[in-house]
Amino acid sequence: MSAYAAAVTAEELALHGVPDSVRVNTIDNAGATILAAGSDEQRRRYCPGMAAGETVFSVLFTEPHAGSDLGGITTTAVPMGDSWRITGTKSWNARTSRAQFGICAARTQGHGDHSYAATGLFIVPLDHPRVQVEPIRTFNPEQFFSVRFDELVLPPDALVGKPGQGWSLVAEALGLERTGICFAGRARRWFDQLVAGLRARGELARAEDEHGLGRLDAEIRSSRLLAWRAVQGVVEGGLNAAAAAAAKWWTSELAQRVAWLAWELLGPAADRDAHFPDLALAAREAPGLTLAAGTSEIQLTTMATDLLDGGDPWEEQN
Ligand SMILES: Cc1cc2nc3c(=O)[nH]c(=O)nc-3n(C[C@H](O)[C@H](O)[C@H](O)COP(=O)(O)OP(=O)(O)OC[C@H]3O[C@@H](n4cnc5c(N)ncnc54)[C@H](O)[C@@H]3O)c2cc1C
Repeated sequence: MSAYAAAVTAEELALHGVPDSVRVNTIDNAGATILAAGSDEQRRRYCPGMAAGETVFSVLFTEPHAGSDLGGITTTAVPMGDSWRITGTKSWNARTSRAQFGICAARTQGHGDHSYAATGLFIVPLDHPRVQVEPIRTFNPEQFFSVRFDELVLPPDALVGKPGQGWSLVAEALGLERTGICFAGRARRWFDQLVAGLRARGELARAEDEHGLGRLDAEIRSSRLLAWRAVQGVVEGGLNAAAAAAAKWWTSELAQRVAWLAWELLGPAADRDAHFPDLALAAREAPGLTLAAGTSEIQLTTMATDLLDGGDPWEEQN
């Protein structure tokens, strides 16, 4: 189905508070990458199971010393005849314990270089004795893991696309996430719960005076439009990096602001408030919103660079 259908699904799940990282990683990231750049055999082998919810993928891009700048990854994929030998450590990988496979970014040549050119994406089995998956405990409700590859030998058909194609595939894989559709959905859900909680306590009018809730409501509506405009860009194949950065930055910052305002106004006791069942979860999820899929600083840098170059983020859509 089209990216519109994917976006409608993503938005509805966010509006209904359904945890979405397994779906985002499996369908929007790994699935979309295999559909776009995988071989017929890879599509046949993995995609039906993903669509059925039976095959789960973990996204293995970030490393202990390379997150915002994936040009610095040190995981290597050394060619051995037709095969590849993978060595290195990934970190901050969400829900890996639920996954059978990972989609892993590794340096295919120029080991020790700092460049994007020689990155490949590989499908890796996670139940192999040369793969170690360990939990990382955090405040975030997400369960994070680190994944270590100790000279894991992969067959030739583990590579998705071509050896140097990894970086452009990573950028495309994050496409739907960067439209901000999930963040806009969260902002709406949390805001509606905040209003219901305040109304039940008879505090809505005072909160509106002191915190401008009407304005915040309007900002959430406009952030949804911004996200949908970005989705349109994905559908038409014309979403440029600055437009995606604007949508991701604004929607994630706004959802974070709503979560923290709710915490401030309703307080920890509201955790058990029937009107705001998500309060504690929202407060714990909020810090990660402006980090995952590219931090706010990186989105601002992308926008600034494009504008300084004389670009118009929406040019290709006008
Ligand atoms: C909820 C969540 C889910 C995640 N899921 C996954 C996953 O499934 N798989 C995966 O591989 N990764 C995942 N990540 C990791 C995520 O991609 C990284 O956290 C993110 O890319 C930032 O990298 P980092 O944590 O190494 O921070 P760093 O890149 O070290 O950044 C640290 C700080 O420095 C700032 N900074 C860095 N570079 C610059 C610059 N050039 N200019 C200005 N400021 C800069 C950043 O904005 C940030 O504030 C997830 C993260 C979160 C929060």
